[in-house]
Amino acid sequence: MNSSLAPARDIDGKAIAAQVLNEVRDEIAELARQALFPALAVILVGDDPASQVYVRNKLLRAEEVGIRSLEHRLPESTSQAELLQLIAELNADPAVNGILVQLPLPAYIEEHAVIQAIDPLKDVDGFHRENVGGLVHGAEVLTPCTPSGCMRLLQETCGDLRGKHAVVIGRSNIVGKPMATLLLQADCSVSVVHSRSVDAPALCRLADIVVAAVGRPQLIDASWLKPGAVVIDVGINRIETETGTRLVGDVDYASARTVASAITPVPGGVGPMTIAYLLKNTVIATQLQQSR
Ligand code: NAP
Repeated sequence: MNSSLAPARDIDGKAIAAQVLNEVRDEIAELARQALFPALAVILVGDDPASQVYVRNKLLRAEEVGIRSLEHRLPESTSQAELLQLIAELNADPAVNGILVQLPLPAYIEEHAVIQAIDPLKDVDGFHRENVGGLVHGAEVLTPCTPSGCMRLLQETCGDLRGKHAVVIGRSNIVGKPMATLLLQADCSVSVVHSRSVDAPALCRLADIVVAAVGRPQLIDASWLKPGAVVIDVGINRIETETGTRLVGDVDYASARTVASAITPVPGGVGPMTIAYLLKNTVIATQLQQSR
């Protein structure tokens, strides 16, 4: 621990997300001048309580910025064929610009088949393999919302990212891998740490930027960090406390802020950025569809 450092400053995800939403409002006004009115279809299968909260928040934010949202709540008993049929109808509907299928799906539905069935130009989550491949190639494609939001937080916090050493902890398709790709595009030197890495804390201590997307509550503490590192905590974990439950990240915030120079809190860091970039992606999807 470097006791000469002041505690890390908070990276205010709510404030930066509000800026992104203002940009989205301006882009929507510009589209309206061309008689284009973006619409986002959100599909929720089953009644997972956390998914219901996520979907409600997405629909509320969409309405606030002037994106028309079309909610499709399907019962837990929905078959894969029925879900694929709905996606085919939404793909064919020119009035629908974005399609989001809330994950996780019930275990009997193949997530991969569902994601690949979405028209890549309407895939506002950026999970379709055409968008994944396009991202790696540096093409203009729909990019996963959480990593895009993390990049914006880093740009607002650090300015120029060129030459910085970034360590991404986690290699999932939805966060870790696209995050590493975006950091590489921003000219960072990137290391990806995962469950088979040998001495992950030592690798992480080399980083100027740490992005934690592990799903392990408060795994990363001060001992993982180089003094002055910038820390983006993607994790959302609910833990038991003496008085009930609370949300914590993958980073031990109290410990990490004694060493880091800037850190995202949980909640109020990455979470609001994910929704803001979902809506930005809906606007980008609308624009991309004009050129097909
Ligand atoms: P995931 O699919 O479970 O992936 C977790 C990754 O962490 C895996 O690559 C795994 O390695 C790695 N890992 C596990 N234990 C590790 C350890 N001890 N040391 C180093 N690496 C380890 O999770 P995810 O979907 O990426 O989500 C990660 C976290 O972000 C979760 O808390 C999730 O709730 C949260 N999240 C938040 C948002 C948001 O909007 N804020 C969005 C998406 C996800 P292996 O590959 O070797 O198994």
